[in-house]
Amino acid sequence: MKIHEYQAKELFKKFGMPIPDGKVTNNPEEVGKIAHEIGKPVMVKAQVHVGGRGKAGGIKFAHNAHEAWEHAKAILGMDIKHCTVKKVLITEAVDIDTEAYIGIIVDRAAKMPVIMVSPEGGVDIEEVAAKTPERIMKLHVDPMLGLQNFQAMKLARFVYEDIGIARKAARVIMQLYMTFMHVDASLAEVNPLITTPDGKVLAIDAKINIDDNGLYRRPEIEAMRDLDEEDPSETEAKNADLSFVKLDGSIGCIVNGAGLAMATMDTVKHFGAEPANFLDIGGSSNPDKVINAMRIILRDPNVKVILFNIFGGITRCDDVANGIVAAVKDFKPPVPIVVRLTGTNEDEGRKILEEINLAATSSMEDVVKKAIELAAA
Ligand code: GDP
Ligand code: MN
Repeated sequence: MKIHEYQAKELFKKFGMPIPDGKVTNNPEEVGKIAHEIGKPVMVKAQVHVGGRGKAGGIKFAHNAHEAWEHAKAILGMDIKHCTVKKVLITEAVDIDTEAYIGIIVDRAAKMPVIMVSPEGGVDIEEVAAKTPERIMKLHVDPMLGLQNFQAMKLARFVYEDIGIARKAARVIMQLYMTFMHVDASLAEVNPLITTPDGKVLAIDAKINIDDNGLYRRPEIEAMRDLDEEDPSETEAKNADLSFVKLDGSIGCIVNGAGLAMATMDTVKHFGAEPANFLDIGGSSNPDKVINAMRIILRDPNVKVILFNIFGGITRCDDVANGIVAAVKDFKPPVPIVVRLTGTNEDEGRKILEEINLAATSSMEDVVKKAIELAAA
């Protein structure tokens, strides 16, 4: 789950990170008041779940409250990489001396968080990694031991020569690590971490992605979810207890089991087509799930065919067939349906499908080829 910059800053602040004061609003009329309260020049910052807002015109400097109001009017409603800006953060503008990068992600292969720092801040870290990898220092942290002060200091010293500044930055790196661990993040970063001419170290941008698997035990983080920023189909699928990821192809796939769903996508690609989605209806045999899955997939105008690939085990083929029949009667899909059934109650399933003149095959390869043929027709 992604959260906004202002929310990430709230979390970082709880762990003591130095962050300029600010306030978020969706109302341009409130912006003047907020800027007035801050009483200094401010930054008006678009709050959307995408990066590179600065380059897209979503971050503007304002000398005074009036200018802040004007910028906010322009930024609210703006489209940044297909996201409409609905909120702006008004935050104290600061004088920047240097911009650095500090971030943490989970290194799945190493089974450890890895901290990355670079004196090249404010730019895309991927670009730094590609062009000047020697400007990045990485450190894996043993989660059983936690980040040690000397390690944070070593990272900070890679970025800053000045010992006083490095000490302050080491503390920020420690706070970054604490936040990352505490909220079950999959990514936490500050880009840029800045120094001011008077020797302060401040986090002026913040990004945190949360590991969805940790959300069940973090209701206060789940409450930060912004449904406006999420794909409505994915939200609906989540509420229907389906695991669904929208993709760009034309073959809509409904499969039981994540492994089989992956294999189905691979097979579709192998025969030269692209799946429209990943969708796992899971192990249970509830016809409602099939109906919900079909409704969600059919909302995508790219979908030219729906492919069912069901390997009956705990999932019963007759239940799935009942779901398909109910869905077809319910909303008469505008695209053809092809079905592969094999395993538990497949004969019963086939019989049920006869009612709507659907012949199910038992071969995965056949059904995928058939789907691709129909999608191209
Ligand atoms: P991003 O473009 O989405 O990464 O948004 P950032 O918050 O990182 O802002 C982009 C850039 O705008 C930063 O790298 C800074 O160079 C500049 N910027 C942001 N806030 C301030 C500020 O308070 N003062 C100054 N002088 N520049 C700022
Ligand atoms: Mn940034």
